Order: sequence, then C-alpha cells, then structure tokens
Amino acid sequence: MSLGGQTTRENLCVACHSCNEFKRDLTVATDPDTGTDVPLFHPNRTPWRDHFRWSDDFTHVVGTSATGRATVGALHLNHDDIVEARRRWTLVGWYPPVRDL
Ligand SMILES: [Zn+2]
Repeated sequence: MSLGGQTTRENLCVACHSCNEFKRDLTVATDPDTGTDVPLFHPNRTPWRDHFRWSDDFTHVVGTSATGRATVGALHLNHDDIVEARRRWTLVGWYPPVRDL
C-alpha cells in the first residue's frame, strides 16, 4: 500500500512477482498508440477481456484498449522469459488458464 490505500479485500489484487515488481506504485502509464497517460488495468474494476486478448498462439498479451496497451508496456507482460514460458505451457495444455476471461 505504497500510496496509502487501505489493506482491505476490495483494494488488494493477487499478482505474480514480475507484475508486482514492475507495477510498484504506478497507477497510470502511457498508451504507446496515443502517447496519452491512462489508468493501468485494475482487475477488481473491469474484466480482463475489456482490455486484453491473447495472441493467436497464446504467447503474448495484446492490449485492445488504451489501458490495456499501457498496462502491457508498464508491467512488461510480454518479456522474453514469460513468452517462452507461455509457449511451453501452451504446448502441454497448461495455458492460457482460461481462454475467455
Ligand atoms: Zn504477472
């Protein structure tokens, strides 16, 4: 709670280590398509599918809104290690965990 928010269930999100490290106390980031600062995706407020989709091979998260694109960049959602992991997980049927979130 680096910005002073309350430690309540409604205010917390589960995140992997990588996302948490890149997120830090960011609440906005720049949409690479428009250059506009927009709010980062907040999983408690809007569904994932309103801002993202999977690439056809399920290795990349594709931002489909300004918030989605900004979040993909700010949280490095497609860094090389995770893309390779998703490729392997997809091959054995472990990924994506839910195909239509
Ligand atoms: Zn993550």
